Amino acid sequence: MAHPKHRKSKSKTRMGRAHHHLRPASLVECNNCRGVKMPHRVCPHCGHYKGSAIV
Ligand SMILES: [Zn+2]
Repeated sequence: MAHPKHRKSKSKTRMGRAHHHLRPASLVECNNCRGVKMPHRVCPHCGHYKGSAIV
């Protein structure tokens, strides 16, 4: 089984961890009520999804 031959230096560990930050959540506009909502999810304001009322 593949196994690391050498321990990563503190610098290399930290360089990799520099990319561990979270990206801000993307938001889209609801087609029904124009409110902001998460993409591919039922609107939390009006309960619509793809033009029809779900909730
Ligand atoms: Zn809506």
